[in-house]
Amino acid sequence: MLALSLLAGTLAAEPPSPPLSPEISRFVVANSEFTLLHEMGHMLIAELDLPVLGREEDAADQLAIMILFLFRDDLPEEEFDAKMLAIVDYWRLESQRPRRAEERVPAWASHALDEQRFYNITCLVYGSDTQRLDWLPRVAGLPMERALYCDQEYQQARKALDWIRHNNRRVAIQRRPRLQIVYDPPPDNRADEQLVTQIRQGGLEELARRVSQVFTPPRTLTLWVTACGSPDAWYNRDEAVLTLCYERLRHFRELAETLPPQRRPGPELECVATSEPPAGGMLKQPEC
Ligand SMILES: [Zn+2]
Repeated sequence: MLALSLLAGTLAAEPPSPPLSPEISRFVVANSEFTLLHEMGHMLIAELDLPVLGREEDAADQLAIMILFLFRDDLPEEEFDAKMLAIVDYWRLESQRPRRAEERVPAWASHALDEQRFYNITCLVYGSDTQRLDWLPRVAGLPMERALYCDQEYQQARKALDWIRHNNRRVAIQRRPRLQIVYDPPPDNRADEQLVTQIRQGGLEELARRVSQVFTPPRTLTLWVTACGSPDAWYNRDEAVLTLCYERLRHFRELAETLPPQRRPGPELECVATSEPPAGGMLKQPEC
């Protein structure tokens, strides 16, 4: 069904694009990873027949963040913090982005509003280590009323992930992880090739393989990177195919270009964070 195209072959005649800045590259890779893991969250819920209370979309966000924490020791602490901050930044930017009426998430949708997803994700990241990340609520604009209980939210999510791993372990060791990765020809050759190179070098494929190894779903999973006509991603549970759209990678790059330069996690960020809080006027401004 899916035709595998080797990007190098199709793009050999194109002159190379200038390299992405480290900040933009990190933003694209981090948010591609989050997107991949959110969809793998749906995959795990379906393939492992996990019990879910509450909205599946919220559970998929939590799984994405907690799986990133599962592999946190792969990176130096500062680099891991920068990755998580890039994801927090994405949801802040996404929640503030002006939208056409048809793009807006209605209140009845299965997804939470982007603004709520921003707070939920920020809370989990902060809750992972409230002492070391004590600057995060102020910088991100997470009100103290919510921040106070983020460590409990993180522990709840951690417990759920541990439960999944424990209950799946005995079955999983009898299975062999199977994952195939398919790239369709990108619609905008030079720019898309560069983004694909970034996410591959950034370890997206390796991350997908590791999740397949840790959780070992019963069927072969296909990760399909293709053009969709919109910046989307989804998991098709009938075919066990996870689709990641080239347009989504481009959307990450475009949003990253709106970030202030040289954003870094740490106390110095407090006065670099010129970001506006999400729309709605509920947040306190970062104090610089
Ligand atoms: Zn989803």
